[in-house]
Amino acid sequence: MQEKLLQSTYKEFTDITDLPAQYSKLLVRAKDCLTNSWSPYSDYKVGAAVLLDNGQVLAGANQENAAYPMCLCAERVALGAVASQFPGVPPVAMAITTAKGSEPAAPCGACRQVLAEHEYRFKQPITIILQAQSGVIYVFDSVKPLLPFSFHL
Ligand SMILES: [Zn+2]
Repeated sequence: MQEKLLQSTYKEFTDITDLPAQYSKLLVRAKDCLTNSWSPYSDYKVGAAVLLDNGQVLAGANQENAAYPMCLCAERVALGAVASQFPGVPPVAMAITTAKGSEPAAPCGACRQVLAEHEYRFKQPITIILQAQSGVIYVFDSVKPLLPFSFHL
């Protein structure tokens, strides 16, 4: 047996004005999308905005349902819009935000897998920007640190 070390790195910003302009704009777009959240059951609003390789930005908000398994995360709503409206155009960055708390909300496991699939499909990383309504901002250069050993066929 050989024990292996698994490490991840990310950048932490304390002020949105310290982010590269394209990322701060993307984060603002995700925050704007919070108003489109349908979350009467959890009262946990999530917004996500995706920057595409062609410069387009599409956003999504979480959509809940009384039948909980049918709920859609903001990240997958946004990626679904991307795949439907700009098939073949790689996403290069996604900003994710919530209306609650001060800790950045990380994507759930299912969304991490979907993001990993997009990286695999387009053979390029997607920068992930995370922030709650305010507070610290985390920036990951790829989904890989959030989902090591992701599933691929
Ligand atoms: Zn999710």
